[in-house]
Amino acid sequence: MRREQVFSGWGEPGAGPSISSHAVDFLRDELGIDGSVVSSAVALEDVRLGERGLDITPFAAIVGEEAVRTDREARVLRCRGKSYLDLLAQRAGDCEAAPDAVVAPADHHQVVAVLQHCAESGVAVVPFGGGTSVVGGLEPLRGRFEHAISLDLARLDRVVAVDERSLTAVVEPGLRLPEADRALAARRLTLGHVPQSYEWASVGGCVATRSAGQISTGRGRIDSNVVAVRCATPAGELATLDAPGSAAGPALRHLVAGSEGVLGVITQVSLRVHPLPAAQRFEGWLVPDFETGCEVVRRLAQAGAAPDVPRLSDEEETRYSLAFAGLGSLPRRALAGRCLLICGWEGTEDSIKRRRREASRALRRSGAWPATQRAGREWVRSRFAGPYLRDALMDRGVLVETLETATSWSNLAALHDAVSAALHASPRLIAGCHVSHLYPTGASLYYTVFARAGEEPAAQWRSLKTAATDAIVAAGGTLTHHHAIGRDHAPWLADEDGPLGVEILRAVKDRCDPAGIMNPGKLLPAMT
Ligand SMILES: Cc1cc2nc3c(=O)[nH]c(=O)nc-3n(C[C@H](O)[C@H](O)[C@H](O)COP(=O)(O)OP(=O)(O)OC[C@H]3O[C@@H](n4cnc5c(N)ncnc54)[C@H](O)[C@@H]3O)c2cc1C
Repeated sequence: MRREQVFSGWGEPGAGPSISSHAVDFLRDELGIDGSVVSSAVALEDVRLGERGLDITPFAAIVGEEAVRTDREARVLRCRGKSYLDLLAQRAGDCEAAPDAVVAPADHHQVVAVLQHCAESGVAVVPFGGGTSVVGGLEPLRGRFEHAISLDLARLDRVVAVDERSLTAVVEPGLRLPEADRALAARRLTLGHVPQSYEWASVGGCVATRSAGQISTGRGRIDSNVVAVRCATPAGELATLDAPGSAAGPALRHLVAGSEGVLGVITQVSLRVHPLPAAQRFEGWLVPDFETGCEVVRRLAQAGAAPDVPRLSDEEETRYSLAFAGLGSLPRRALAGRCLLICGWEGTEDSIKRRRREASRALRRSGAWPATQRAGREWVRSRFAGPYLRDALMDRGVLVETLETATSWSNLAALHDAVSAALHASPRLIAGCHVSHLYPTGASLYYTVFARAGEEPAAQWRSLKTAATDAIVAAGGTLTHHHAIGRDHAPWLADEDGPLGVEILRAVKDRCDPAGIMNPGKLLPAMT
């Protein structure tokens, strides 16, 4: 049996760290929560499920009876992703719209046959990789159809080929990231792709959403490591050549990467892989203020000397990160606007030494000084803890969610101010931000928001998210640097791509998926 997460939260039951008393005390003071558990998820047997009577016989004939599931657990687990809105609905047991069945093909040909049957009989298809979407990408919307299936890619989990000489690997999409890394580690290689959702996200889901991991500054985002793709669409196969570079017209692999299941299903992907690093080093610095920190990481990125993992917190994020780590007694006055910068380095001992020396010089010149060794170690230890703590905070009546964007270096400060102001228009709210994925031309901004959940927490978050997204669009940031569009950002897509851009995407979808069965309601805005 493949490992599964709990339907109403993150990870397997009982896994992950528990919330520290420092964090609860801090949020009690800041948000006015009382710190006790005030809400919990309904039991699986109390979840409300809709029944629509889909005939599953044709699916069983294609993939085998045991690979078609209609039981409560399978349908509830495939009902949504892991955003705050998803978890609110799952915890409340609202799965009326759950997929009618979960169908798990074993190979590309079975995927093609399932899509053909769905196109002929009018069944919506929601591809399911690791289930960690945070933008409503897995919502089983049916479009104009009565039925929807979740197309679970878990059985497409093979490493098809590894070319150690070219440093590429061909893998199937359902492989989870740790599984892919385990297989590659036997050859001293790694994907080098570590999003915070690493434990559960799949390779195919990451490609379908153009994900960026914590090491993206050093290793590149996943789409920049995609060499070739194979995609099964209802209209046929779209496969691109595995070549290191090509001028044969626009790169079609980039049309498939980021297509979020609306064109078809990625059934194979060839990725650039990286030598397993011989050494790693993580450390913390305190920079005089956020602006100075941005300047120093900009210069490092442009000089090719940036850490592989850079993470510069603004003042607010610095304050709560220290408080969560038990250093909340450090008075604001002592911090005086200083901001925490985590630097992570990977490679050989020598290369790390050389790059650290250059970065340390630039940091000291800017007035920064090294924080304790503990800061870097603490960040590594807790790099996957956030989503487990979110469950504990939701139990305690805290609204907690993240959002992200990116822009040029010249526009970074203005965008940061605009988004912070939009969020802080709501009273008694914490909205800390960090700069984390660096490019020579700009960087991403990633916000974490905490507030006391009101009577209508879903509406409360939607209103905050709308305000933040409107501010992002007005200030010239991207709708999303790495979470993708899904259902949640689709209404704003024309603001980023323009009306013609959206029409072009719609035309491609119509050609690949004439019946419109593929992941309805995602990526493309609703027709008006
Ligand atoms: C706690 C948490 C932390 C996160 N941290 C990060 C982060 O650091 N960086 C980051 O980039 N993202 C992050 N995310 C978002 C999420 O993990 C990414 O979007 C990830 O790429 C999704 O992968 P998945 O396998 O879970 O895909 P899923 O959630 O299963 O699917 C995502 C979308 O892709 C489609 N899809 C999935 N597989 C395929 C396929 N083979 N072919 C076609 N379409 C497909 C689905 O239909 C859906 O629309 C985080 C999410 C959570 C919950």
